[in-house]
Amino acid sequence: MKGYRFYFHSKSRCLKRTFAFIMSVFMVLSLVNISSDTVRAADIEVNFAKLLQESLYFYDANMCGQDVAAKSAFSWRGNCHAGDTSVNINGWNMDVSGGFHDAGDHLKAGLPQAYAATVLGIAYMEYKQSFIDTGSAQHLQTITNHFCEYFERCTAVNGDGSVAFFVYQVSDGDEDHSRWEAPENQNFQRHVYYTSDSNPATDEVSEAAAALALQYINFGDTKALDYAKKLFGYAYSHSGSCATEGLYDSSTGSYLYNSQSWGDDYALAATLLYKATGEGWYQQEFNNTRSGSSGGYNIWSWFSWDNVSCLADYYGTGESGALLNCANNMYGGMDSSGGYGCLLQWGSARYNCNCSFLGLLYDKAAGSSEYSNWSTNQMKYLMGDNSQNQCYIVGYNSYSSKYPHHRAASASNDAGAYSDNRHTLLGALVGGPKDSNGTYTDSQSDYQCNEVALDYNAGLVACAAALYALHKGDGTSTDTLMTASDVEAAGAELRYSYSPSGERKDGTSGLTGGQASPENGNASGGNGSAGNGTGGNGSGSTGNGTGGSGSGSTGNGSVGAGYNPSSEWIGGQYYSSDGSTSYPYIGSWKANSTGWWFEDTAGWYPYSQWQKIDYNWYYFDYYGYMASSEWRDGYYLNADGSWTYEGVGSWHYDGYGWWFGDTLGWYAASQWQKINGEWYYFGADGYMQ
Ligand SMILES: [Zn+2]
Repeated sequence: MKGYRFYFHSKSRCLKRTFAFIMSVFMVLSLVNISSDTVRAADIEVNFAKLLQESLYFYDANMCGQDVAAKSAFSWRGNCHAGDTSVNINGWNMDVSGGFHDAGDHLKAGLPQAYAATVLGIAYMEYKQSFIDTGSAQHLQTITNHFCEYFERCTAVNGDGSVAFFVYQVSDGDEDHSRWEAPENQNFQRHVYYTSDSNPATDEVSEAAAALALQYINFGDTKALDYAKKLFGYAYSHSGSCATEGLYDSSTGSYLYNSQSWGDDYALAATLLYKATGEGWYQQEFNNTRSGSSGGYNIWSWFSWDNVSCLADYYGTGESGALLNCANNMYGGMDSSGGYGCLLQWGSARYNCNCSFLGLLYDKAAGSSEYSNWSTNQMKYLMGDNSQNQCYIVGYNSYSSKYPHHRAASASNDAGAYSDNRHTLLGALVGGPKDSNGTYTDSQSDYQCNEVALDYNAGLVACAAALYALHKGDGTSTDTLMTASDVEAAGAELRYSYSPSGERKDGTSGLTGGQASPENGNASGGNGSAGNGTGGNGSGSTGNGTGGSGSGSTGNGSVGAGYNPSSEWIGGQYYSSDGSTSYPYIGSWKANSTGWWFEDTAGWYPYSQWQKIDYNWYYFDYYGYMASSEWRDGYYLNADGSWTYEGVGSWHYDGYGWWFGDTLGWYAASQWQKINGEWYYFGADGYMQ
């Protein structure tokens, strides 16, 4: 038996409980005060779990390529832009199909695509459990994979492994914006824009490398890592500058996604590649960019598709201050006089979400709560808790925007025909209010208030994941999962949906609702868990949860001859470290819909610790619930929570990836497995994905 540390502290647990109760009363009161001052009571359901699920579907609406009919969850989306499959560039025949349409239009812009993929990847890296709890992990991976396959296809690789050029943009404002039609009808060959010695587009190349590195970090995608390294090598070996070609739109006389800096993108790619590979050269490149004067690395610049310096700084230095500085800078620039934080009248909701996400990420890193109230209330505002009862997330509730500026969802042939949106862009964040008072028009022709975009929704997804994690179990959010009737009420047409366990199901049949739960992740991998079958059921603890009537129990205060109990419960009686039985309270198993716990008549219960009960060891999590079918500190806990399996498990790494195996030769494969409180998925080859 290894040297576990055991705690027996009934008082501290009771205090903790009382404190939590006081806190919840305080929070309810403070929210009531805010509501009565600024908004009328609307029947707005605050549900961060459903918000996270729905916010991912926007990417299904904007998928491009020859596999959309197979991949998009929306039945009204089909394959599009066949002309992208064969493009001649400098004698190379390139297939640049795939990726995502930028917004309500169909050009494939470079920076916002790579930025969106990067933010989605960071959201998953930071809040993985939120995706697992809501059955959204597979959905997220399908989306980021579609991004990464496109970036790989857009990379022309020489025979020696170096990059010849990278296609960073397909089509442009002039070519695309004159046509208001469905993408499925646009199969002509479009203009392409690619890097060269005179236009190295360090910003575009680096941001794509960052997204690819994350795909490796999150899912062990080694091909993505290979391309990330190649693209970063290209950026390193060319002079640093922002993309210049393809950005001018003569129809409006302005530039589309004309970035002000490349150092932020380069630094983020460098630090994520360091995270992925552990190679010091990448960290050195991050340090050089951060301390150098070129590149425009600036943590104060608003966090958006144009500047990711604050994220680079956080991951590159390990210090979270840049996240707070940037969030505070955005917050300070907002007009909040009417209750809504409005930074710019064009696409204000995007900045609002980005600021929230940074603040929440800072709080997570620093263990603080600087932004928890503000971010929560701003999201409630966007959900419709405002004086106009206007929800800015399409399909979320009956107050949602109905006429987003989006060619594919529109049945009309021009932007002004706003009465004719025929498809619901479930989960799309529209531009939002033009000011702090909620001035807004729900019109297809209003691209400031009502356009939707890849970068807008990335911030929404990240925020939803962070808010779900922040409020999990505290009652702020109902945390119920999407149902078929939600989809029907929204008028969304689904080809397939993701079940609570993350599996793809036809139509809406996967949307069974229920409560978001960590158990959801369990089912999607087939749960062939480790010790089952080899460990057998616990000896003497088969009566788990039956109030101490387990077969190992020998009655209160009496144990078998020759056994010297120590710091354990037997038959409801506690035996202290010297075996004495002076503790008078009786312990028993209890259960609710979440799980089992062990509690005595004084109200004490074990949490964040091992405890021996009726001759078997059990582990109790932070909330006091018994752990089961999982590894904890190297020991496998059976489905009934008892530890009887003899193998000792540990993590291993061999240069290809990580796997988890034990001293009896078993290793996790083709399954989800919970290890020390976190869920991991292991592929058929046993490597962690
Ligand atoms: Zn397309």
